[in-house]
Amino acid sequence: MAIDKILVLVELTESGPTATSLELLTAARGLATTVEAASWGPGVAAAAGTIGEYGATTLYDIGDLGGALPGVPVAGALVSVLSTSGASALLIPTSYDGRDIAGRLSAKLNVPVLTNVTGLNNDDGLSTEHPIFGGTQIVHAKFTGTGVGIYVIRAKSFTAEPAGGAAAAVVAAAAPAAGNTGTATIVARHVEERSGPKLDEAAVVVSGGRGLGSANNYAWINDLAKLLNGAAGASRAIVDAGWVPYSHQVGQTGKTVKPTVYLACGISGATQHLVGMKGSKNIIAINKDQEAPIFSVADLGIVGDVNKVVPALIEALKSRG
Ligand SMILES: Cc1cc2nc3c(=O)[nH]c(=O)nc-3n(C[C@H](O)[C@H](O)[C@H](O)COP(=O)(O)OP(=O)(O)OC[C@H]3O[C@@H](n4cnc5c(N)ncnc54)[C@H](O)[C@@H]3O)c2cc1C
Repeated sequence: MAIDKILVLVELTESGPTATSLELLTAARGLATTVEAASWGPGVAAAAGTIGEYGATTLYDIGDLGGALPGVPVAGALVSVLSTSGASALLIPTSYDGRDIAGRLSAKLNVPVLTNVTGLNNDDGLSTEHPIFGGTQIVHAKFTGTGVGIYVIRAKSFTAEPAGGAAAAVVAAAAPAAGNTGTATIVARHVEERSGPKLDEAAVVVSGGRGLGSANNYAWINDLAKLLNGAAGASRAIVDAGWVPYSHQVGQTGKTVKPTVYLACGISGATQHLVGMKGSKNIIAINKDQEAPIFSVADLGIVGDVNKVVPALIEALKSRG
């Protein structure tokens, strides 16, 4: 039996709903008879078309918070949205704001939260999948109590696909006064400069690890990624070493990527790295150690010096024009 109604918390950027929000709307559509959405910020009404296209019929507009941190006001608004909507489950993207809102809402409603969810099934009610031990085991969980189920879901757990529905009907849902917490406001936003596709959305990801030998050699990773119209990623070892910013990190404590091609250059393939990239369609690994664990997930393995193979690859691609 399909679940009656699921509410999805949609996060917005200047260009519309985040990729994870669209993934959650798609997943909810496959599980529930009715999908509704709630969002906040200045662009909610403008996003009603896209949100409807991905399956939500109603969009609760919590409004522009005017620079306030969303945790308190959005959690407060969701209490009344949930009672109006009657949804039995709330799906929230794993993000800084999403986790903040989920925690506060859990306390307000006195219900638990299931976090780090990577799969949802209708198993006579909603059941979840959670990777543990670096993704080597999957735990299944299900709420047994009454009340709404709050689920915080990781990016790339589902594939976002539009359903072609009409724009969602926008319903105002005021945020309660934030009280003392309203004194903390966002005063500036810094958007990291990048050229090419986003790491977690790119069709090709070229990642470098400690095998590159030095921060300077990471330039080859950037060059190769650019030539392939892809994004440059990294292992945690070189992020921790300060060679590249954290935003490049792939893995358990970094980003999850599922590109068509993932190229791992000088990366050993620790489970914490694999968990962030092993869902890639085609994995190519370059490592000088033929016993490196990365080869256990690779479709194509090149045993060799990354500092010779990658520049040769760049030359070969350039010569093809
Ligand atoms: C709680 C926790 C969370 C973590 N989260 C993450 C995460 O999100 N992402 C992540 O990546 N890691 C994560 N780690 C770290 C992880 O365990 C590894 O330490 C890390 O992935 C190793 O990075 P690396 O493969 O670049 O380095 P190394 O393990 O040092 O491997 C370097 C590889 O390069 C090869 N190599 C050396 N020289 C060359 C050469 N000239 N040519 C070709 N190959 C060469 C070596 O054979 C080796 O396989 C986490 C660890 C913990 C404990």
